[in-house]
Amino acid sequence: MGLEFSRRIERIPAYPVADAYGERAPRVRLASNEAPFETLPAVRDALAAHAAELNRYPDPSAGELRRLIAERHEVPAGHVVVGNGSCEVLMLLGEALLEPGAEIVHAWPSFSVYPHLSAASGARAVTVPLDGEHRHDLDAMAREVTVATRVVIVCNPNNPTSTALPVARIAEFVERIPPYVCVILDEAYSEYNLLDDPAASVALLEHHPNLVLLRTFSKVYGLAGLRVGYALCGSHEVPLALNRVRQPFNVSTAAQAAASAALGSQDAIVERVARTVAERISVAERLAAMGLAVADSQANFCWLLLGADRDEAAVVAALMERGILVRAGAALGASEPALRVTYGLPQENSAFLDALAEILGA
Ligand code: PMP
Repeated sequence: MGLEFSRRIERIPAYPVADAYGERAPRVRLASNEAPFETLPAVRDALAAHAAELNRYPDPSAGELRRLIAERHEVPAGHVVVGNGSCEVLMLLGEALLEPGAEIVHAWPSFSVYPHLSAASGARAVTVPLDGEHRHDLDAMAREVTVATRVVIVCNPNNPTSTALPVARIAEFVERIPPYVCVILDEAYSEYNLLDDPAASVALLEHHPNLVLLRTFSKVYGLAGLRVGYALCGSHEVPLALNRVRQPFNVSTAAQAAASAALGSQDAIVERVARTVAERISVAERLAAMGLAVADSQANFCWLLLGADRDEAAVVAALMERGILVRAGAALGASEPALRVTYGLPQENSAFLDALAEILGA
């Protein structure tokens, strides 16, 4: 007889991982929305400086990193929570807020980890389709809020569809949500979003104690491999709750040091955003010339609509044969043939576009 696992394990969906993680073969990696740039010099120095003291536990309160994050966003340090990636913070929020009988509202397709929150807690997930332009339908989401709702998630820009809504629209939405519901605004890609200043959503925290913004060092800061993300909370209540459910040393010494150094490298970050946005524009132009439609991207990736009669899996496989990794839309909740393609370096994007043109005969 085998082991008997808890009932809740059966409900939890496996995360749809991309291919080739951990592989060192030269590939064009456009499947995981990472930054294509090498580790920032200040991050390398910070890691080297801490390399000799890894026998010690990290600061369990991540005090210095939280102070720097608080300073940058002009929020109280007591309103900042750091985690092993923003994904950990998201899961901690689920653990702290959800339970059987509770409800969570989120859009779909959206970030693949959201279904985990309801499955792991036994809460009921209410998923709301995106609008015709692949954006969140905030009116429809607000209509789904009931007395049982504990969490509403808005992913802005949305993964996998790359689209964003203006902060003014989100502000109206938050106004309509009752104060007993935690609104999580997942802003993993906010630095790439040119619709608003990234500070615009932070300003909402002052008026909404039930609002939590999620940010990450995994994207533009280039620390996906170290795992650091954070939440900016509208009240002290949320950090206190998350501190009770998290493990004490959840962010490593290396991750804390690297994230602190990355925050101090803002000139490089601005340059990275500019380079990525330039690629965003040129990739969209080339795809349009091939007769392909993309959603309006405010992120470091595009959502490419292949057309109803194309075989998405065959296109992904043909790209893979040419050493180019992208994500198939079907694994991410797409209801029509689509690809999610991260913007890489210019030569990587060209390799992708040339291969796609060849495969589609465009
Ligand atoms: N939110 C969204 C929308 C994401 O796309 C991702 C990464 N794929 C995350 C959160 C989690 O990122 P991390 O855990 O690396 O901070």
